Amino acid sequence: MDNEYITMTIGKQKNIALIAHDGMKQKLIEWCNENKDILKHHFLCGTGTTARMITDKTGLPVRGYNSGPLGGDQQIGAKIVEGKVDFVIFLSDPFTAQPHDPDVKALLRIAAVYDIPIANTKATADFMLHSEFMNKEYEHKIINFDKQVKDRAATLK
Ligand code: PGA
Repeated sequence: MDNEYITMTIGKQKNIALIAHDGMKQKLIEWCNENKDILKHHFLCGTGTTARMITDKTGLPVRGYNSGPLGGDQQIGAKIVEGKVDFVIFLSDPFTAQPHDPDVKALLRIAAVYDIPIANTKATADFMLHSEFMNKEYEHKIINFDKQVKDRAATLK
């Protein structure tokens, strides 16, 4: 039973993914500007357009993946699975339907599977960024995926 979960560490320097739907991009850029002194100590990435706009408007280096509707959210989801993204700020637009809504849901789901801090509103982003855990390592337990595969393979044969 005790190997059902493994302990993973979110480092002191976080791997932060930044994503904003079109109606929320200005809000995220302003937030990045306000919090530049904190954000500059972490590794930043984001969906294509969001990443480009943040870099242009704030000077912060943000590694850009594909644009969200072209698979960028899925790329960030894959990085969560690989342990390479461990903190997400995702300002989704509550008033506009998105063509890539399934990808958005997939990202939220995979963040839950891997117990990743993920902010969906500016207020949550503020609470997260000003948390004591921003300045230290954070250990959390996630499902032991190797054991999960072994058990499933044994059970389903
Ligand atoms: P974008 O993608 O940064 O390329 O606009 C964001 C999204 O809509 O998921």
